[in-house]
Formats: sequence, structure tokens, C-alpha cells
Amino acid sequence: MRTYDIIIKKRNGYSNTRDELRSLIRGFVDGYVPDYQMAAWLMAVYFNHLDAEERLCLTEIMTDSGEKIDLSSISGIKVDKHSTGGVGDKVTLVVGPIVAAAGLVFAKLSGRGLGHTGGTIDKLESIPGFKTSLDIDEFKQQSERIGIALAGQTAQVAIADKKLYALRDVTATVDEISLIASSIMSKKLAIDSDGILLDVKIGSGAFMKDLEEAKELALAMIDIGKRKGRTTKAVISDMNQPLGIAVGNSLEVVEAIETLKGKGPNDFSSLCRVIASQMLVVGGVADEDDAQVIVDRMIDSGEAIEKFNEFVDAQGGPKDFSENYESCFDRAAIIEEVRSQVSGYVKSVDAESIGLICMRLGAGRERKEDRIDPAVGMRVLKKIGDRVEKGETIAIVYANQRDRFERETVAIRDCFCVSEERVQAPPIVYEVL
Ligand code: URA
Repeated sequence: MRTYDIIIKKRNGYSNTRDELRSLIRGFVDGYVPDYQMAAWLMAVYFNHLDAEERLCLTEIMTDSGEKIDLSSISGIKVDKHSTGGVGDKVTLVVGPIVAAAGLVFAKLSGRGLGHTGGTIDKLESIPGFKTSLDIDEFKQQSERIGIALAGQTAQVAIADKKLYALRDVTATVDEISLIASSIMSKKLAIDSDGILLDVKIGSGAFMKDLEEAKELALAMIDIGKRKGRTTKAVISDMNQPLGIAVGNSLEVVEAIETLKGKGPNDFSSLCRVIASQMLVVGGVADEDDAQVIVDRMIDSGEAIEKFNEFVDAQGGPKDFSENYESCFDRAAIIEEVRSQVSGYVKSVDAESIGLICMRLGAGRERKEDRIDPAVGMRVLKKIGDRVEKGETIAIVYANQRDRFERETVAIRDCFCVSEERVQAPPIVYEVL
């Protein structure tokens, strides 16, 4: 089969068969299909898209290109979760312990952050001693024993996706819905679970900028999940401003702990409740109404925070961490308040810029090899719709290097736009599919 013919078919708006896709993707991974041909096919997909069958085939081929994690020996219902990423997104740290406390198994592989969005693994690694590089046996044993384990995604999972993504990144073909859906699901399907909950974010700080696009992506992923026999649902949530208050690794861990104790910020707590409830629904252990009640009970009774402590302890972190975290985390050397220069109502809080500022302060990576500073970041005290008075603190910045901090001060103020008219706060959840 000539690669040229596979490309021309897609270029002319026809569907590629499973055999054609297999030959293309395997050839690319093995080095027989050169980057320029793969890039041509990707651009053809960018304009002509993949149909449902092609998306499924591409996903399966990419999943099959790497290691698969078989959890069938673990008893219990296994649920997985994926977020399309955002600023201040520490949902996994909260919903994992909640659903594990409620009796599900939450065995998840997570990624590191790159660019303006943070990664769960970096947040967990801000906890002294916490180990994210579990081998497969440790990962399984811990999941079986305490119902929750979180490890860094190995380089061996969905190898084809990794190679393809690197090419998409430099050929302006990342933002095509069928490619994104196949890419995300190829990694989700590499670890076996009974159900998958997808958190698809929309807004200025997210991949998807509007509801229609987000729904299309969510439905494409749900379709792939269902065709593979996984119960799959999606929550479409807001990323027009940072999620919660904290952005930055140890700051986010603290916010997750407080949320598990029932004392988190409203937007973040609400989203965690919805996602945890939907995970119980996906796991088939509760209907929508019962699920909410169970989630509230796990938080109010302290079972969720106890499960979090058990999880941190199991992966090498300090004992009773939720009670002792203040003495475990290093404080940033510079902690400065940013004050509003005008009075009014907060109209926008630029999530992407805040993510990038935190990254430059050291909370994230511009390049894969950059080192993370767990103590730095920002607490965003004013959110869209809030009243703010001139001189009032809108944010607190945590930095360790004076020059980096000075460089960002103007940019930080520019992230907040204040208007004289009242502003409606955006909903935190748009739809559940
Ligand atoms: N995240 C992924 O894993 N893949 C994409 O293509 C986009 C976002």
C-alpha cells in the first residue's frame, strides 16, 4: 500500500480503511513513513477530519503501539478520569480520594505539566517524599489495597501518539477534534478501567474556546469509549478563569486538602462534587441523585480526607499529611500582594496569562527539561463577577527570585480587567454528557 495513496484519499475527502491507517501509523513509528508524508496526512485530516470508524481505528492502533496496563486482577470497579487541562486544575487530587473512599478503584496514570497548564504529577511531587514512579506491581497492589494509586505516565504508553503529537505540535495540526479525541482516548484505553469520566474545559485558558467545539470533542471521545465497551461520560466545565484560588504546585495541594475537608473555594468545590458524582454514576454504583449524597457524605464524614492521607502515606509522603502540611512545605521567599488600581466589578481574569506567569516564576515548564519550584505561584483572590475596591488585594504572588517577580508585576495586574458595570460570574459546569 503506497503512503501516497493513503494521503490522497484523505486529501480528497474519503475515509481511510483500518488497514490503511495501520500501515501509515506503524510505518511512521517504525521509520518507514517519513515526517513529511505523515505531516501531509495530518494536514489532510485537519481539513477533512476523521469519521467515527476512522477515529476508533486510529485510537486502537495508537493504543496497541505501546504498553498496556492490565488491571483485571484487581477486584472492584475501576474508574478513570481525564481533564483536557487548565490553570489551577487540581480536581484529580480531590475526586480520587472521594471516589476511593466511596468504594471505587481509582488507578490513574497522570502527566506532567507543560506550558501554561500544570500537571497532577508535578503537584503530587511537591509533597516531600511522594513517589510517582511506581512500578506496575506496586501500582496494582496499592490500587487493590487502598483503592487509589497515581503514577506518572510511562513513555511506553501509546508510543505512536507521542511521536504523532510531536509532529502535530510543529505542523499546526494539534487543534483538530478527531486527532485530539483519538490521542486522548489512546492513552485512556491503554489502562483498563470500567468507566471513564472526561472533564472537557472551555474558555480562554483551554484548548476548546466555545461550547459547541467542546461538545463535539466530548461526544467524539464518548463515542470511542463506548465502542470499546467503557462507560464514558463527560463534564463540560469552565476555564475562562483559573479554577479555584491557587495556581502553583504546593499551593494547589493545600487547596485540594482544604476542599477535601469541605473548606475549598466555591467554584472548585462545586466542580469536584459534580465530577466525583459523575464518576460514581460511570462506575454504576449510584444514580445522579444518590451520587451527590454519597460525595457529600464522604467529605462531611472525613472519610475522603482520611483516604487522601492513606494515599499520600502509601506513596511515601508524610503521615497525616492533611494535618501537618504547613510544616512540610517550604515557603516562598517573596510573598507579595497585588492591589487593584480601580474600583468596580471583575470582568475577566486571564487564565492563560496567569498560567504563563506562574510558569515563568518556576511553577511550570517552558521546556520538558525545566525544573519545577513547588513553592511558587499565585493565589487569585478576585474572580469574575466579584466587587473590588481600589487598593484591595486581588492576588498574592509567591516567588523565590526577585528578578523574576519584578519582571511579572505589570503582567499580573494586566490579567485582571475591571469594569464599572456589574458582571455575571460564568457557570462552573456547562453540561454533562
Ligand atoms: N491532549 C492530548 O493528550 N492529546 C491532544 O491531542 C491534545 C491534548
